[in-house]
Amino acid sequence: MAQDAPTTIHLKDYKPAPYVPGDLFLNFSLEPRATRVTSRLQFSANPASKEKNAALVLTGERIKLVSVKLDSKALAASDYVFTDSDLTIPNIPAAPFTLEIETECDPVGNTALSGLYQSSGIFCTQCEAEGFRRITYFYDRPDVMTRYTVRMEANKAACPVLLSNGNFQEGGDIAGTDRHFAVWHDPHPKPSYLFALVAGDLAGVHGSFTTMSSKTVQLGIYVEKGKEDRCAWAMESLKASMRWDETAFGREYDLDVFNIVAVSDFNMGAMENKGLNVFNDKYILALPETATDLDYTNIEAIIAHEYFHNWTGNRITCRDWFQLCLKEGLTVFRDQEFSSDLRSRAVKRITDVKTLRARQMPEDAGPLAHPPRPNAYIEINNFYTPTVYEKGAEICRMMKTLIGEKAFRKAMDLYFERHDGEAATVEDFVACMADASGRDLSQFFKWYEQAGTPHVKVTTHYDAKAKTFDLTLAQKTAPTPGQADKQPMHIPLGLGLVGPSGEDMALDLEGVGSLNAPIIELTEEKKLFRFRNVTARPVLSLNRGFSAPVILQENVSPEDQLFLMGRDKDTFNRWEAGQSLGKSLIIANLAALRDKLPPPRSKGYADALQKTLADTTLDAAFKALMLGLPTEADIAAAIAKDVDTDLVLQSRNRLRAELGAELKDSLLAIWKDTEERGAYAPTPENTGRRSLRYAALGLLAAGAPKIAVDLIQRDLAKASNMTAEIGALSALVGIDAPETNLELENFHARHAGDSLLVDKWFSLHSQVATPGAAARIEALMGHPDFRLSTPNRVYALIGGFTAMNLSGFHAADGEGYRVVADTILKLDKTNPQVAARLATGFRSWRLMDEARRKAATVQLERIVATPGLSRDCFEIASKTLKG
Ligand code: ZN
Repeated sequence: MAQDAPTTIHLKDYKPAPYVPGDLFLNFSLEPRATRVTSRLQFSANPASKEKNAALVLTGERIKLVSVKLDSKALAASDYVFTDSDLTIPNIPAAPFTLEIETECDPVGNTALSGLYQSSGIFCTQCEAEGFRRITYFYDRPDVMTRYTVRMEANKAACPVLLSNGNFQEGGDIAGTDRHFAVWHDPHPKPSYLFALVAGDLAGVHGSFTTMSSKTVQLGIYVEKGKEDRCAWAMESLKASMRWDETAFGREYDLDVFNIVAVSDFNMGAMENKGLNVFNDKYILALPETATDLDYTNIEAIIAHEYFHNWTGNRITCRDWFQLCLKEGLTVFRDQEFSSDLRSRAVKRITDVKTLRARQMPEDAGPLAHPPRPNAYIEINNFYTPTVYEKGAEICRMMKTLIGEKAFRKAMDLYFERHDGEAATVEDFVACMADASGRDLSQFFKWYEQAGTPHVKVTTHYDAKAKTFDLTLAQKTAPTPGQADKQPMHIPLGLGLVGPSGEDMALDLEGVGSLNAPIIELTEEKKLFRFRNVTARPVLSLNRGFSAPVILQENVSPEDQLFLMGRDKDTFNRWEAGQSLGKSLIIANLAALRDKLPPPRSKGYADALQKTLADTTLDAAFKALMLGLPTEADIAAAIAKDVDTDLVLQSRNRLRAELGAELKDSLLAIWKDTEERGAYAPTPENTGRRSLRYAALGLLAAGAPKIAVDLIQRDLAKASNMTAEIGALSALVGIDAPETNLELENFHARHAGDSLLVDKWFSLHSQVATPGAAARIEALMGHPDFRLSTPNRVYALIGGFTAMNLSGFHAADGEGYRVVADTILKLDKTNPQVAARLATGFRSWRLMDEARRKAATVQLERIVATPGLSRDCFEIASKTLKG
């Protein structure tokens, strides 16, 4: 082992800080290589703390301590102790006392992009979770909140724009120098992770919003010069978000200004700093010719997400980082609802479940499984996970399902009223749900504490004579690291009994009577639900709308699945029936390939898809989703043992080729029907039409490659928007065509100067699933456009490879693992957070066959044994290896 294992932080050790800060004054003298920061404040004793005469221990990292003054008196070096992570002043006078600290940091040298750094010459900060300690010594923890006043000065030519949280107070030139200054004041107490500062030569796009109580808010979006024409959609999305939070939750904005800054070097998607959101520019910049429909909807959703944090996250924040899902799960739930209201609810639900299955469920089934509210961590940055975010949102959704829409709104009102201005816990939130509804949610609370996805085994029996339909449900959650024994969960399951002509039959449940809402609750390990007066054999449609994040284990006949695919009232389960059928066909195909037997018949499935395509009552976006087969990763997860990823790829491709050939005429008709007409608009209708167009093209490429390649090349030659370009190229990348490289090169040549488009080019390359993929990835890392220092670029090429190229990353010769491990180790030296994210790509290695497992072990062991490895990578790699 290269080093001692870093320390683990436990939820049970939570203690309030012994002192609380009064108003904080910060002064920044900005210089690229040596920025001086002065922090001045008063501390009082914290009545919530049991410690008396405690030492003052503040955290600080990678900063130079210049001076410390306690009650205006400079301290000698012997008066304090500092290590590379904190500053301790042992002899503290009776509180209150004042403290003034001067520190120095190096923004240009900050390649970790946490704290104060530069992105394309722009000074910016990222403080969540623990970046503020790279700026000054402070109680860098979310339960310590105060009011900030920030003064900054900088070279006027280099940094004409000076921004911080809250409202602008004053500014001006500094006489006799080439510098100027600005002062910002945020009247709302906040934790340090919500602090932000931006200074640079930025272009601003301005707007305004009138709130429900008729206050005018000035809106600003700041971007690199020359990109101001790409902000219109973000601005529109911001206004829509502000309006929605008023109408859906009664939440009004609370400052005179709301600013957003887009930067090109950012570890995550975006950050909800109070009144000054900082964004990865990928989630701001959009023009029809540079951004796809997916980019447009992501921008809309992420602008909303960060804006919604103003209430769920900022006004009410988290007591400690174990409570992260309090703000993230709830805010994801809110942004999902926003998108559902603005666009198609049915389509949104399906795409959210696809994300859950692609990202969260594999996490929950692997070595990195953790509860939505973890109780221990080594590095908190590793816990911004799909489980905390997406499963956290599912938990909010289930509570809404259980208590009903009205009580849910009442509970949210109560939450805002009870905890405004506080640093709250998950318990506080659930107590509001229980109090507002009168329901006991104590068993439900286990969703926050128990890791792993519950499996629900379904058995049914119809008794024609007694007219009863018996539904027996048995739940089981497999052990996860550190949690061997699991308790039964409280699972709300939407359901319908679908009659022979497709109608929903009445639900008359023995012991309950006729159900008010079509929902049953499974709380026991096993339970029989008996429905009465069922006059004909029904087809069960369970977990409608994906009401609970569970895995159903059902034995449904292909006939019943085909029936549901065509007839279920619940659009989610219509799609789900198609997915289940697709999955069994691919798995049957795989067995046939492996055992050299004839492939299974897919004609029934093709016919059902054909009917779906012809159904004029269905919208295009839904049809596009129906055409999408389960992913290779879905198949691997379903097989769950000794997976050969090459066979998965081949069997899925074989089914795609069959369906494409079978549906050829309909797909061609769709292609003709969905031609671009008129100007581009990212409306739900137009987006849906294009999604169907390119889903059809993808399947056609699999079934009739010659015809499709010709269409693709002609489409690319005249493409008028980025959705068309990416749609056509993705179809090409999905098959092994000789034209692929040529068209990718053309794309690069067309867009070489545009970094977000160069990212797309790398991302397309990462998905090419032909033999030798790892070698190609390695070669691309040597391309002059590849930059390890730009997270977006790394995520596009390496992240794309691990997530979207199953057979390449998990290649039997271990080369995929080796190339990714090399990259992780290189990147860990400069940006551990991003390196650790890449390392999570290994999380499914145990599903694979022996040769692959051996190869993955070699690389994970190599990572863990590397001297000087970061805490971030150590935690992910060591847990992945062990779990
Ligand atoms: Zn968030």
